[in-house]
Amino acid sequence: MAKKTASGAKMIYYFGKTKTEGDNKQKLLLGGKGANLADMTSIGLPVPPGFTITTEVCDLYYKAGRKLPAELMDDVRKNVALLEKELGKKFGDPQLPLLVSVRSGAAVSMPGMMNTILNLGLNDQAVVGLANATGNERFAYDAYRRLINMFGDVVVGVDHEHFEEAFDRIKAKYNAKVDTEVPLKGMVELCEEYKKVYRKHHGEAFPQDPIRQLELSIEAVFRSWMQPRAVKYRQVESISGLLGTAVNVQSMVFGNMGDDSGTGVAFTRNPATGENKFYGEFLVNAQGEDVVAGIRTPLPVAEMPKWNKAVYKQLLEIKDNLEQHYRDVQDIEFTIERGELFMLQTRNGKRTGAAAVKIACDMVKEGLIEEKQAVLRIPANGLTQLLLPSFSPQAKKEAQASGHLLTVGLPASPGAAVGKPAFTAAEAVERTHAGEKVILVRKETNPEDIDGMHLAAGILTSTGGMTSHAAVVARGWGRCCVAGAGEMQINAKTRKISIGNKTYGHDDVISIDGSTGEVFAGSIATQEPKLSGDFATVMKWADKYRTLKVRTNADTPADAKRARDFGAEGIGLCRTEHMFFEGDRIQAMRAMILAENTERRTTALKKLLPLQKQDFMGLFKAMHGLPVTIRLLDPPLHEFLPHDSKSQGEMAKQLGVSAAAVKNRVQQLHEMNPMLGHRGCRLAVTYPEILEMQVTAIAEAAIDSKKKGVDAQAEIMIPLVGTAAELRMLREQVESTVAAVKERKKADAPLDIHIGTMIEIPRAALTADEVGQHADFFSFGTNDLTQMTFGFSRDDINTFLPDYLNHELLPQDPFQSLDVSGVGQLVEMAVAKGRGVKKDLKCGICGEHGGDPASIKFCHKVGLNYVSCSPFRVPIARLAAAQAALLPS
Ligand code: PEP
Ligand code: MG
Repeated sequence: MAKKTASGAKMIYYFGKTKTEGDNKQKLLLGGKGANLADMTSIGLPVPPGFTITTEVCDLYYKAGRKLPAELMDDVRKNVALLEKELGKKFGDPQLPLLVSVRSGAAVSMPGMMNTILNLGLNDQAVVGLANATGNERFAYDAYRRLINMFGDVVVGVDHEHFEEAFDRIKAKYNAKVDTEVPLKGMVELCEEYKKVYRKHHGEAFPQDPIRQLELSIEAVFRSWMQPRAVKYRQVESISGLLGTAVNVQSMVFGNMGDDSGTGVAFTRNPATGENKFYGEFLVNAQGEDVVAGIRTPLPVAEMPKWNKAVYKQLLEIKDNLEQHYRDVQDIEFTIERGELFMLQTRNGKRTGAAAVKIACDMVKEGLIEEKQAVLRIPANGLTQLLLPSFSPQAKKEAQASGHLLTVGLPASPGAAVGKPAFTAAEAVERTHAGEKVILVRKETNPEDIDGMHLAAGILTSTGGMTSHAAVVARGWGRCCVAGAGEMQINAKTRKISIGNKTYGHDDVISIDGSTGEVFAGSIATQEPKLSGDFATVMKWADKYRTLKVRTNADTPADAKRARDFGAEGIGLCRTEHMFFEGDRIQAMRAMILAENTERRTTALKKLLPLQKQDFMGLFKAMHGLPVTIRLLDPPLHEFLPHDSKSQGEMAKQLGVSAAAVKNRVQQLHEMNPMLGHRGCRLAVTYPEILEMQVTAIAEAAIDSKKKGVDAQAEIMIPLVGTAAELRMLREQVESTVAAVKERKKADAPLDIHIGTMIEIPRAALTADEVGQHADFFSFGTNDLTQMTFGFSRDDINTFLPDYLNHELLPQDPFQSLDVSGVGQLVEMAVAKGRGVKKDLKCGICGEHGGDPASIKFCHKVGLNYVSCSPFRVPIARLAAAQAALLPS
């Protein structure tokens, strides 16, 4: 009987010819890798047998204070015995030893973030057995030294450098330039040296008992779940709520047994473009990690037939088989041991946004999936990449003509990036935070670099292929990446790169094109994206299924037009304060703020009125026939004034007042908590003439636009309301101002201006039944609502947010993705209370969350009418809204 945990759950699932216990529905329990290994075994693919220790055991390990459950190793022994029987090999055997790999595998793929140990089971006796069994002594000792090194490094923390030094000594002794030139004798000596290194730095001898090796390795994999790079990766990818990693113990096959062996990774379709073409790389006579680590540059799989036609044919069959089975692109790892193919992994392939769109459309055409599945399949955020600019062909041509093309590497992840070289991940992080745009330039990247990779504008490496760490991670994030630019020499110490006879330092701008692999000196101009036919198809499907409307947050006619081109169905938020910063308008604004009495203020406002009116007419024209929600002035007035004395002096001169008067006003306006201070509707309460000017401009713009045949649909939004009384009073002012304008302009036709409020103060949400009586619509300002519900300053959260994420006190930044259980409750309640008094009250959201797919899902669920987001996120919101509608509730 297989052992069970104290809670009664089964701890280990076997896969092999003897039996296969798991399947691909058990990803949460067995991890993606474990579930798919079981699945591939079940459908008859050549998978080396093994077993998976569940994620529940990882959870127990941590709950017990990092201790393996007492019963686990008994169960491991039983499964090892099964493996031994199935393969006719024995653990630690001097004749025919069983060797295994130990790999991590969480429910969500985290490439390279956790630990792997290969060749377990080798010891001083088994190495002789392996040599006998394979007839290849050098290979056996090479495998042994790899184990001691990997085990030393990953399991007990002996620095890899110490092993490297020992290897260098042996290489020098045998005059070998590269590892493969070290003869058998040298390899045997190296194993002895490595054991000494291990003992010296760890204090104990390298364990000879294979079961002990296994136990320590299993523990190391569990430990790696919480190592900093894995924790960071989960944060960046918003992965939370998992139990931990599973551990896969699998019998070894070797790709490094000679020239008839090899190893590779491949995608069933091109993950960068989506093209339906088998795509991947392999290395002859190499072990798995060599390909992924990018140490040697591999060959494209298309060249495999030259090496082994039969294996290539078999691989193509398996590729089709897998796509039919999973109905999605697969990312596979395989090994060929002495001409025999083995599958080591399959998982849904990470792809760029462009590839996701093309693959989804192609698979619908091929009848592999249905339209709805296609809509659900495309990560909405991935569309960002398609909407990003690329280099303008003209500017590129000019750069080429003037000799600025430095080299061409591999087009690892599309996009265009311009920046200055940063030579370490830490440098990239620091300089990006300081406001610079940097390109992370590395020989190769490793999982430790993810922070810098995530923040850099682009990534450039000198070694590694299309499936190297840099390429895979960059594609997943939509970060522009050029890999394997082999002509480039990098000197991280002097912070210089050289290509040919040219050298560039950390302050020189370079441009990289992730779609072509080109690297240029200098900055190249970019251009707006052209959206392909497939993109339009996906948008058409999305519009068919979504019920939420999608509006945009836009303050200028240009933004409004761009958003409309992207499919926006109106403006959900025009922040009028942004209009006051343009050109010399700020002067009129400052004159207004400085005015000592209402009369002077009104005079200053008169100057602003025609400018505002012009702006609004532009917006109405761009949005002809669609609603335009204009928010009255919101920020505290001090934001419009300079705070240093030099600028205050200049301002005084421009306005013809004394410097002391300016300074005085700035001091007067100073508040301890400006975000909770004199802002939003409170400004209109104190300075009704500001409201009057803005509403006059809106009403006049609407009347004049209609006269010109533009269908202006104005909505006036009052910000930061906390009580029904505020809204009632200000609504009356808005209505009387509109009426006055109509009378003055003798405009009899109805204007239909809707008057509503933002719900961004918890009190407004709590009393939405009262507030709703005076509102034609609610728009949830979830930026402020989040700030005030949590009591987190939206401008200062970064001082402590990293700690909150590290401790998993928050699943993600609540200003990016709506806190559904807290802030969301207020939204849901306010919608219900508002509609309780006005059945058809229109409700929308205009905080940043309006462009976040997870938040959009929530907005759909609670029955909002629309979401509003920045122009570039409109297509993302359309797709996310469709996905929300299609997902089972
Ligand atoms: C909000 O608070 O969510 C909002 C949209 O307003 P602002 O970001 O301008 O405060
Ligand atoms: Mg706000």
